[in-house]
Amino acid sequence: MTDKYCVIGNPIAHSKSPEIHPVFAAETGQDIVYERCLAPVDGFVDTVRRLVAEGYRGANVTVPFKLEAAAIATRLSERGRLAGAVNTLSFENGEIVGDNTDGAGLVTDIVRNAGVSLAGKRILLLGAGGAARGVILPFLEQGPAAIVIANRTRATAEALGAEFAAHAAQAGQVSAIGFDEIAGRFDVVVNATSASLAGDLPPVPASSFGPDTLAVDLMYGKEPTPFMEFAALHGAQVRDGLGMLVEQAAEAFTIWRGVRPGTTSVLVALRDKL
Ligand code: NDP
Repeated sequence: MTDKYCVIGNPIAHSKSPEIHPVFAAETGQDIVYERCLAPVDGFVDTVRRLVAEGYRGANVTVPFKLEAAAIATRLSERGRLAGAVNTLSFENGEIVGDNTDGAGLVTDIVRNAGVSLAGKRILLLGAGGAARGVILPFLEQGPAAIVIANRTRATAEALGAEFAAHAAQAGQVSAIGFDEIAGRFDVVVNATSASLAGDLPPVPASSFGPDTLAVDLMYGKEPTPFMEFAALHGAQVRDGLGMLVEQAAEAFTIWRGVRPGTTSVLVALRDKL
């Protein structure tokens, strides 16, 4: 029997996940269908219950339901629990298992696709919202020298830093500051603010970047974001968030199907269609 999956969101028409998972399935010989599922903004829980009753095996979750997905899960992975947000649900043996694959997707894109190791590196993480929260534990697992969280609202960065301090290998490995306190050059700068959505540049100083810096904007689109243009102007190697998107999908597919798909051809095809 064909196993059913979907991506739940509101809106959902823009989601690229239904273009990704069927390619993974074809490449790995898995018999699945993968659909878009528009849930009413106040109807996420009812939607999940309906999917479970209809025999779906799992779902991805996108804006604005990632926090509700963490709340509805009967079991959470460590990274899902720490992120406080879930983008991957598995329906198995009466349980709703929640995980967050966004951070793992970003790490795979940086380490494998860009070929940049994070071990011993200084990482500047701009933003302290849902996306930033999801990447901190996967970053820590790579053994960086420092993760500096900088946010417009400093208190939000501080709260996030405090939550993850217990997972740091040494005191001071995770720190939190306001944008005006950013100092020195970084090996990796990640724009996890939503500034790019509005075509804005977060107030990061040019001195953060150099020829050995990798700058990643989690947003993606046809054109480089103002952050990518600014980082490139100051010598950094740049990439957008399309690789993260494809890699988080591959991680979710692996959780569901027990087989890891290749990602190169999907990434090229999506890039062509932007
Ligand atoms: P949230 O709304 O949870 O967080 C937004 C963050 O951006 C906050 O830290 C906020 O600061 C900051 N911010 C907003 N506007 C500005 C601005 N003009 N200047 C500086 N900082 C600003 O968003 P998410 O974390 O969910 O998403 C962030 C980005 O990541 C989006 O662009 C999203 O598209 C992308 N993303 C990409 C994924 C992928 O697979 N490629 C997956 C998930 C997200 P404050 O606390 O002060 O409000």
